[in-house]
Amino acid sequence: MKLKIHRGTHEIGGSCVELGTDSGKTRIVIDIGMPLVTPEGSTFEWREYKGQSTKQLLEQKVLPQVDGLYPCQSASVSALLVSHAHQDHYGFLRFLHPDIPVYMSGGTRGIVEVSNLFLDTRVNLGQVQSFTMWQQFQIGEFTITPYLMDHSAPDAAAFLIEADGKRVFYTGDFRGHGRKGILLKRLLADPIPNVDCLIMEGSMIGREEGIYSDEGAVERAIAKILANQCSYTFVFCSSQNLDRLVSIYRAVKRHRKILVVDLYTALVLDKLHSLSDNIPQFDWRGIRVLYGYAHARKIAEYDKGLLYRYRGSKINWDDIKSQPQDMVILARDNRYLRNPMLRKLQPSTGAKAIYSMWHGYLERTDLQKVLEVHHVEFVEIHTSGHAYVSSLKELALALRPRVMYPIHTFQPEEFGRLFANVVQIQDGEEREV
Ligand SMILES: [Zn+2]
Repeated sequence: MKLKIHRGTHEIGGSCVELGTDSGKTRIVIDIGMPLVTPEGSTFEWREYKGQSTKQLLEQKVLPQVDGLYPCQSASVSALLVSHAHQDHYGFLRFLHPDIPVYMSGGTRGIVEVSNLFLDTRVNLGQVQSFTMWQQFQIGEFTITPYLMDHSAPDAAAFLIEADGKRVFYTGDFRGHGRKGILLKRLLADPIPNVDCLIMEGSMIGREEGIYSDEGAVERAIAKILANQCSYTFVFCSSQNLDRLVSIYRAVKRHRKILVVDLYTALVLDKLHSLSDNIPQFDWRGIRVLYGYAHARKIAEYDKGLLYRYRGSKINWDDIKSQPQDMVILARDNRYLRNPMLRKLQPSTGAKAIYSMWHGYLERTDLQKVLEVHHVEFVEIHTSGHAYVSSLKELALALRPRVMYPIHTFQPEEFGRLFANVVQIQDGEEREV
């Protein structure tokens, strides 16, 4: 079996891995993410490239250099697998040749479908097939087994890929300290035997773990704030981070507050309700839906019935203003927050904003200043979506791979110090497994 990591050996983001069998008959690609950084190390800005053709993007090496993957080539890749619904793993899926089938989990598909509606993802869902976790499937000469992993994206998968008598395990993005930490524990207790090659993410290598060690700690910290609130609480968190939404909802429920979500969030939760009985839904006690104009218009275009479906849980500005101390409002750092939300609500002293996302995002926004002007106190409560070094070590020790290749890391050179059998490679370098 042959392996090529097209992007990700030296960076977080833009992950893309190609595997091919010895006969040359089957080639698959795992993930086709948008980069987070440029080769020079500055922030990758997609809007600078928008509108360019696939050919132009290939020439500039913005798209990974995979033969037979794009519409300007003849399709020679047998399939593309997506590990999870984060842009750094599927952001370039829109450029895929329409004849190449795409495999992703049902939850990932649900997120992609909603993202197609609200964000600029443009995935052709017509070529997407869903797999079931832990159920083997075949792509040409490859046998694939997806493993459900604990990550901030719901229904995230790792893949065991077998061909030519060899076994490759690609972790995707994962952690052991989320709401599904048990998944990592199970993998450690009953490890996959005879792994020849482990391709393991290392986002947290070189990063600090932070104050809140797991989702439980996040939930407790949010609950502690809600216990004493005398005004609004705004919570900034991704609507696609189900673990976090569950943590917030549990804290809200404990103090009998009301969680106000927007239509986009209501739809995400609705689409993913089948993943678990714990995913809060629009018609649950303590949940209300705020109908913003832009979201309502998009949802109406997609399925008008949904606006009627969520109507029983609708809340308006006057309802919110009538009991500010009970309102926990899911907010995002956008124009809608600045106007109408903050303008209409006019928060008084005592209002708080809980920032429950990666700290790095704050470097590119005036959010803290905006909130300060409106007398909203700012607090950060977050835990990473990625495995701590201790979890990475445990997994490496349990799987005992013959070779390990670093991916999804800014510190690949640290792998050799932390784990056994590490081989550091370059993007685009071909290796025999
Ligand atoms: Zn990632």
